[in-house]
Amino acid sequence: MVAARFGCVAGRAVLVTNSLTSYIDIEKFSGGKLPSDPMLCIERWSEVCRLADSLASAKTDQLVALDINELDCPVPRPRQIFAIGVNYKAHAAEMNHGLPKEPLVFTKFPSSLNRPHGQIKLVGEKCDFEAELVAIIAKGGRNISVTDAWSHVAGLCVGQDFSDRALQYANTPPQFSLGKSRAGFTAIGPYITDTATLVTRGNLEMTCRVSGEVMQHTQTDDMIFEIPDIVAYLSNICELFPGDVVYTGTPSGVGAGRTPPRFLRTGDVVETTIQDLGTLRNTCI
Ligand code: ZN
Repeated sequence: MVAARFGCVAGRAVLVTNSLTSYIDIEKFSGGKLPSDPMLCIERWSEVCRLADSLASAKTDQLVALDINELDCPVPRPRQIFAIGVNYKAHAAEMNHGLPKEPLVFTKFPSSLNRPHGQIKLVGEKCDFEAELVAIIAKGGRNISVTDAWSHVAGLCVGQDFSDRALQYANTPPQFSLGKSRAGFTAIGPYITDTATLVTRGNLEMTCRVSGEVMQHTQTDDMIFEIPDIVAYLSNICELFPGDVVYTGTPSGVGAGRTPPRFLRTGDVVETTIQDLGTLRNTCI
């Protein structure tokens, strides 16, 4: 069994085939049993995965050639976007933060969502990159236990937490949410990969390149709080809903932590890759 890959093209939910060269429209392939709206499909994740298991039976004329630039954000209207700060030990050191005792949580407002290959409009001189593993909630709830947490997750995708450091650190103490919510600063995708069959979900290789130069490179098992810990912690405070987005923090190597700092410049191409999950490619304008 191969993990389902769930994407969005022209506002409609699609399944990307294993070859990554084509996709199929979920509503049409299911004969109308599943909706075209990606948010409604995520609520019915187990049915989506069952449909993905039957992809081999799809007729050739149902498949559409995939142009990766056509993919939209796979989670177009999340009710909540959570993000964890300082969740890799080496990143905590480069930003001069101590290790947190509990997850340090902020939000990225949904109006900042971007396409997997969308453009980033830089603002000021201190826009930065943060490669992150992102979890998408399928089954919401409160008081989810650590042991149950993976069963509430639909899948994983690649995320970029673009950050305006000037805005983030304009005051003392710093404020995270607005500095990470400028237009297009929340890139997610290229698709959601189902985690139920993804044996590597607890330890994935993640790389961020800026204009070809490797800036961040880690294994995700270097996280301080892992996805089940984060889901359990958040759900003890906030109710989680299907389609909620959880950014899990960035490793070391961000522009602000380098000597000298390396902030984003017009024309830079930010490529964020996670093993088995795909690549985001965002161009700075
Ligand atoms: Zn971040």
